[in-house]
Amino acid sequence: MVNVGILGATGMVGQRFIQLLEDHPKFEITALTASQRSAGKKYQDAVTWHMDTPIPEVVQDAVVVDTDPSQVKDVEIVFSALPAENAAIVEPKFAEAGMKVASNASAMRMEPDVPLVIPEVNPEHLDLIETQQKNRGWDGFIVTNPNCSTIALVLTLKPIYDQYDINRVYVSTMQAVSGAGYNGVPSMAMLDNLVPFIGGEEEKMEEETLYLLGDFDGENVEPATFGVSTSCHRVPVVDGHTEAVFMEMDEEFDLEDIKKSLQNFQALPQKLNLFSAPEHPVIVREEDNRPQPRMDRMMGKGMAVTVGRLRQDATFPQSLKYVLLGHNTVRGAAGASILNAELIAEIM
Ligand code: NAP
Repeated sequence: MVNVGILGATGMVGQRFIQLLEDHPKFEITALTASQRSAGKKYQDAVTWHMDTPIPEVVQDAVVVDTDPSQVKDVEIVFSALPAENAAIVEPKFAEAGMKVASNASAMRMEPDVPLVIPEVNPEHLDLIETQQKNRGWDGFIVTNPNCSTIALVLTLKPIYDQYDINRVYVSTMQAVSGAGYNGVPSMAMLDNLVPFIGGEEEKMEEETLYLLGDFDGENVEPATFGVSTSCHRVPVVDGHTEAVFMEMDEEFDLEDIKKSLQNFQALPQKLNLFSAPEHPVIVREEDNRPQPRMDRMMGKGMAVTVGRLRQDATFPQSLKYVLLGHNTVRGAAGASILNAELIAEIM
């Protein structure tokens, strides 16, 4: 077993890490960190648990420590669920201390020598780890996964982009409240309501999407060049981000062919049979009323993205429209980092 730690273990994403790692065949949780408010307490006393399964026994009485590498002993991998401003300071210290950091935070994502990876989309970007270690003199390293809305979007773009030239993509998101953390959006702001703004989200989606689908020459990533424009909204759903996607192609396309490419899409994690890899990363539904968060967010144990309402636009025949749904704290956060770590453990 590989000893792993969770940085920010008491938060929404930290809790999801603990839930997903409970029965992991290769990773064993041996360290939990949080802020000074929680350090020194037993995990079950420090956390306000929000998952739909009980707190795993192995962590209930574990003592939460400060988020400082000197407090985390004999750990090979740390999963980071820290707020971005803390991650920017702390994650490099863990990498410097020799640990492999698999991060959810946005702080290091766009650093040119830090891989931003979805294992089904751009596993080759992991080669940047060598450059990172050389540049920074670290024995450990940092690898990041994209923002929650970006992961779900790009998993559906990849099989299409491999076959067709895309001109522009417009996306309108309907994002769950868990994406903002437990204390993120007050219930009075969300019940009977919708908030048409999520700070920084549109910029992240637009930049990360092109970066993930960019060309990599072994040292640098040249972002893809099609247009991406997003509008991000918070809706009163607990888990599961929905996105309405409008895609303008540079050529005629065959709708049935696109459906098949999405449904049959499989990549390296499926070939390697990684523990957290869904058999089908993208699931296509034919019903007019799918996907829906309550019904579809746990497909593939929360690691698959469900696509529905695939259709050719009646007004603009070179445009494709669809609706997608991905679980924001599983595929969009903790599950994404775990899959990155499983891939690294397998190939490096
Ligand atoms: P959260 O619920 O607010 O949890 C934050 C965690 O960080 C808690 O464990 C907290 O510990 C700890 N923390 C806060 N300040 C700290 C400090 N100064 N030093 C050390 N630890 C500190 O946030 P979240 O929703 O889990 O998000 C965590 C990260 O994942 C963020 O960077 C977020 O952007 C990213 N992310 C979230 C989602 C999502 O869907 N939620 C998706 C993708 C990425 P205490 O309990 O002791 O305060």
